[in-house]
Amino acid sequence: MEVKNRKFGILGMARSGISAAAKIKELGGIAFISEFKNENEISNSIQVKDQFQCEFGGHSDKLLQNNVLILSPGIPRNIPILKEAEKQNIEIISEIEFSFRIKHPHSKIIAITGSNGKSTTASLIHHILQTTGYHSILAGNIGTAFSSYPIEKEKIDFIVLELSSFQLELIDTFRADVAAILNITPDHLNRYKSFDDYAETKFNIFQNQNSQDLAILNLDDATSAKFIYKINSDPKYFSLNSKTDIYFEENVIVFDLQKYSIQNTSIHGPHNIANMMSAILAVSPFGIKKEIIQKSLETFSPLAHRMEFVKEVDGIKFYNDSKATNTDSVKYALQSFDTQIRIIMGGAGKGEDYSILIPYLKDRAKKVYLTGDTIDEMKSAFEGSVEIASVKEFEDVIKKAFSESEEGDIIVLSPACTSYDRFKNFEERGNTFKKIVSRLKK
Ligand code: ADP
Repeated sequence: MEVKNRKFGILGMARSGISAAAKIKELGGIAFISEFKNENEISNSIQVKDQFQCEFGGHSDKLLQNNVLILSPGIPRNIPILKEAEKQNIEIISEIEFSFRIKHPHSKIIAITGSNGKSTTASLIHHILQTTGYHSILAGNIGTAFSSYPIEKEKIDFIVLELSSFQLELIDTFRADVAAILNITPDHLNRYKSFDDYAETKFNIFQNQNSQDLAILNLDDATSAKFIYKINSDPKYFSLNSKTDIYFEENVIVFDLQKYSIQNTSIHGPHNIANMMSAILAVSPFGIKKEIIQKSLETFSPLAHRMEFVKEVDGIKFYNDSKATNTDSVKYALQSFDTQIRIIMGGAGKGEDYSILIPYLKDRAKKVYLTGDTIDEMKSAFEGSVEIASVKEFEDVIKKAFSESEEGDIIVLSPACTSYDRFKNFEERGNTFKKIVSRLKK
């Protein structure tokens, strides 16, 4: 894509928008950033204003003076200024599409999406590639923008992208050498028209793939099967329950006549076996030796806030699963232990039906501790099925669970909700949990 001397309007002054603006400037283009929020609501507005032309407090007609508009994830596509831009044939793309267009053709793309497991799987793939000696970068939804790396230069071998459904909304020529959908379960239902609409957006990840590319799908996921007709590449499947291209049997992962042991790995639970299978499939076109992959599986450390072991206090173990912001991740948290657990749930809801957790809670939860804004909603879903305690404050709910525990018990924070009722994000919630746990004494 030609950037030099062209004008780009960027909607949204968050990480990916600022990064795209910096790249445009670096490549000789002109970037104009338009932000809906007021200037005093943007923490780094002074630095941004120093470097780029900007506007705050709304998206004005100035945007229509640009050749291309780059839309940040989360900004609805139907706002008036975008409708007007469409009328005037101004191209509207995402930061992912922009970065794809400027990246060097040498760099291969491995793109991962799904409702859960994206960060873990993308990080594991990146780890395998780095262990092999490749120059790999990890970008996208995981926190570092695609365009923030020197992607226009030849030196990067692999770009591993974690992509949210929002980031997949404005894809045009983007093509991944390897693309995977890990699973599609109810999430972000407050943003999409319907569950099918959400699922279909995820399938954009396979758009523009051809028969040389690899598509990875989860055979256990009924929704994925529904949209399979959208794939032009040859799909490969993983499954926890049946013999697919890669599968799990007698405690080993089997792929291409090779067996991968999970015994010395430090990510646990059936969901992480699925994540490991997807990662092995994702690197399969690149001829990496089995020994290197096995070593990589064993040297990969779990990410913070995903079933992260925190501490043992008086024989009681604490796990921080603050990233579990939907019911499916909680389902897997419950299945990750051999014994029943005390589970802390609740936060800000996303319109999910919590009752689907009842069979898992009945089987795997010793007691459920509800907290945050969703107390009433969860209480009415679970009441009569499992033992419940409701404690509004976060610190108090942890103390309550601790005071009722005995040696050998396990307490897991796995909320099934976002953290926005009390915290800035899931990291702040997880870190607060860890801080409170570190001060606990019987
Ligand atoms: P994402 O980036 O998609 O949010 P993460 O790897 O950060 O995924 O994990 C988010 C939550 O989902 C954590 O609670 C984690 O334990 C759980 N999880 C991870 N992998 C899976 C999976 N394959 N299926 C269901 N839940 C998963």
